[in-house]
Amino acid sequence: MVERPVLLVTGGSRGIGAAIARAAAPTYDVVVNYTSRPEAAHSVVADVIAAGSQAIAVQADVADETAVLAMFAAIDHQFGRLDVLVNNAGIAGGYGTLDIVHADMLQRLWAVNVTGAFVCAREAAARMRTDRGGRGGSIINISSKAAVLGGATEWVHYAASKGALDTMTTGLAKELALVGVRVNAVRPGLIDSDFHVHAPDGRSERVRPTVPMQRSGTPEEVAAAVLWLACSEASYVTGTFLDVTGGR
Ligand code: NAP
Repeated sequence: MVERPVLLVTGGSRGIGAAIARAAAPTYDVVVNYTSRPEAAHSVVADVIAAGSQAIAVQADVADETAVLAMFAAIDHQFGRLDVLVNNAGIAGGYGTLDIVHADMLQRLWAVNVTGAFVCAREAAARMRTDRGGRGGSIINISSKAAVLGGATEWVHYAASKGALDTMTTGLAKELALVGVRVNAVRPGLIDSDFHVHAPDGRSERVRPTVPMQRSGTPEEVAAAVLWLACSEASYVTGTFLDVTGGR
């Protein structure tokens, strides 16, 4: 029997991460990371198993390095391999202009959106890189079009955290190019998910007319881009950014 490759998606219990996990089956066995909603994560796992793959849910706050190490140990134990990491877990950190920004809020924002992605990338690459006995692999960072647009009057702090993720994507793509690990990013635009509960009511309706396609995207449309970057058809693609924004 051919062993299925294994995909880990952080923040896989809801929204874009859940769509990635579901779309990954039956091609991949799937690790669904979550932090606070086990019932949501287990429902995604059930769907992945129903589609013919193996799947587990692993609780870990990606900002907590000890918890991340335990998550990777659980993956080693359950699957003994890792082929794709999707750094998807992310928070907005608050909604508003520069006046709402304060140090505690920024610390948590960087810890989840940047530190978490770095530590997960380090652990994934250590298992994937061909010069250390790995079979190669792919890391996909879920950035945001906000990294380019800047998030003015809404969430510059959040946009800046995604800017850091973009720089990490460029740098790690070069650093890992010769050891079989591709590193890319997807930049979603306005996507329907719980993420917008962080913003005032009506934000989606307000932003939608600024989207050339005049609609928000679905988590499934983001998932399709992620899975293309992960697959062998993208074997010469690294250090790149795929916008899923309806033209915004
Ligand atoms: P969402 O619906 O709010 O889902 C967030 C997911 O992240 C949940 O599964 C949540 O787990 C998990 N999570 C949050 N903090 C975590 C932590 N510290 N450790 C581990 N998991 C954590 O958000 P989404 O819209 O799917 O967003 C996913 C990614 O896309 C984020 O990085 C976001 O910045 C990016 N993005 C979203 C949009 C958009 O319009 N929706 C646009 C651009 C970029 P629990 O269920 O356990 O809470």
